[in-house]
Amino acid sequence: MLAQRTLKSLTKAVGVGLHSGQRVELTLRPAAPDTGIVFRRVDLPQPVDIVISAQAVTDTRLASTISSGSAKVHTVEHLMSACAGLGIDNLYIDITAEEVPILDGSASSFVFLLQSAGIELQAAPKRFVRVIKPVEVREGEGASAKWARLSPYEGYKLSFEIDFDHPAVDSTGQRVEFDMGSGTYSRDIARARTFGFTKDVEMMRANGLALGGGLDNAIVMDDYKVLNSDGLRYNDEFVKHKILDAMGDLYLLGKPLLAAYSAFRSGHAMNNKLLRELLLHPEAYETVTFDDENRAPQGFATLARAW
Ligand SMILES: [Zn+2]
Repeated sequence: MLAQRTLKSLTKAVGVGLHSGQRVELTLRPAAPDTGIVFRRVDLPQPVDIVISAQAVTDTRLASTISSGSAKVHTVEHLMSACAGLGIDNLYIDITAEEVPILDGSASSFVFLLQSAGIELQAAPKRFVRVIKPVEVREGEGASAKWARLSPYEGYKLSFEIDFDHPAVDSTGQRVEFDMGSGTYSRDIARARTFGFTKDVEMMRANGLALGGGLDNAIVMDDYKVLNSDGLRYNDEFVKHKILDAMGDLYLLGKPLLAAYSAFRSGHAMNNKLLRELLLHPEAYETVTFDDENRAPQGFATLARAW
């Protein structure tokens, strides 16, 4: 059986929120089979649980925010991407503020945290959402067009194209395809950092945003070049970060997808719209498990080896 996964032990991290600049503590704890991923705001007078789902996403400006009533957690996508990349099904995430810490701006710190806690196989089959008919969302026309699509694929792969007209981005790859079957998420995707432009950062700060952002947790560019003294981690780090984000946004479905995702200039809003579009079409997907893990799509059985 291809089994669900949780952590072996709990693990903690402390950091600041990218937008709030607020100090925040995260505690990642094991959870029973079929719990899913649950954020718990432990700083509120009564702790509030927010179970991830496409409908729990209530704001997609700048980052993906989930909420339950008035309790929110902002910027969940990088942590969700790490959970997707390592195949974590069940997890409690206790958090002491309303934003996940940005750490180094990528998913690699979360990958390290999850792996150092150890990954445990559980006595329940891992449930996938297998896409059986294509679904697509689209916005704009001509030069402002953007779209995202899920198509049937016996595995999970993502391809993304950006279209940034900027000297520092033009010279890098603007299209990337990543297949989970390669087993190289931690190495090839997780280290890609978020990015921003100094002029936007100034505007965001004036509006009380990006208060925790800086050169140690983002790629920052002026009108001409990358300002980080160490340069880029990958020569196509920008578009790889968009794959990282898409993996996190799509994992908010609550189950891993078996599908091919492709997107052109998509973002958090459109990724969530795509999940909602899928859920509106029950004929476009089915839930599947694998009794024999050797029959599961490549990459899922060996992914993030449990030790
Ligand atoms: Zn991001």
